[in-house]
Amino acid sequence: MIVLRSIYVRFLSIILLASICVTLLISSLPISSETCKCEGASERDIQHEKFHRSFKETFTSEKPKLALLVPFRDRFDELLRFVPHISAFLNRQQIPFHIFVLNQNDRYRFNRASLINVGFVQVKDHYDYIAMHDVDLLPLNDNLKYDYPGDGPLHISGPEFHPKYHYATFIGGILLLKTEHYQQLNGMSNNYWGWGLEDDEFYVRIKEMGLEIARPRNITTGVDDTFLHIHDRLHRRRDTTKCFNQREITRRRDRETGLSTLRYRIDSTKELTIDKDALTVLNINLECDKSKTPWCECVSETKSRLESKKKN
Ligand code: UDP
Ligand code: MN
Repeated sequence: MIVLRSIYVRFLSIILLASICVTLLISSLPISSETCKCEGASERDIQHEKFHRSFKETFTSEKPKLALLVPFRDRFDELLRFVPHISAFLNRQQIPFHIFVLNQNDRYRFNRASLINVGFVQVKDHYDYIAMHDVDLLPLNDNLKYDYPGDGPLHISGPEFHPKYHYATFIGGILLLKTEHYQQLNGMSNNYWGWGLEDDEFYVRIKEMGLEIARPRNITTGVDDTFLHIHDRLHRRRDTTKCFNQREITRRRDRETGLSTLRYRIDSTKELTIDKDALTVLNINLECDKSKTPWCECVSETKSRLESKKKN
């Protein structure tokens, strides 16, 4: 009888232990969209929300929060250098920041400005300011302060320090804006597929809104030692092709497109680290309205020219 009772007690404790283990295991699994009470939210939104929450918890500082928006396609080597470099640089300045790599996943020509618009829409409710940041431009001088640009855009990579671009109205490379300003400007134009001019159009937007562009002061380094531009121009050729009426349209100020006309889909969001530094990759599929910007794909023009040649 005593033997039977001890077997029974042992059996009960094994069952109890097993059910505790199963409960613990289930509660440690990631929340799925089925179990979430957030109506209408996809699993991706939930992951994103969770990420922002954990970010807020990590940064207890009252300082304004910076989202680094990095337009990106096929520059993996540069990214491996950029992330540790910029993370150490901004940590020295004690700036609460997070890196968002805006990876263009569709098959259209590269569109830096639209990618930045997408990044902005994704982060604007969680961050106080953005930096549009080329992946291949590394700041070397610690006096380049990525501070909150309250009064107007802050252009970090000014023409007197940039290794390549020296015209006075240049605002490419690295530009900081508070989220309210980027919203008021309706973001950047979506018309620029291929390399160049999107930043010059943005310059005119900023000027027309009456904002003053500031640049870092008291920088004693020059064009050779303020930034490192890790751009091999033979290996990373700039897509300067112009097709259809691209040249004519992209030379004009665009009063129509921007945040309000942006069309895209985010296919996935990936949380990565490079060494110990965190980043989020947004896999973005831009949409192109070919009745408005047929130059998002120049091949179609070449093809139709070849076809009409064949017919003649
Ligand atoms: N970029 C990219 N892949 C490309 C083209 C551009 O990732 O195929 C991004 C990258 O962040 C790069 C920025 O867009 O630093 C500006 O392009 P690029 O360096 O070619 O222009 P630059 O300003 O050096 O003339
Ligand atoms: Mn470059």
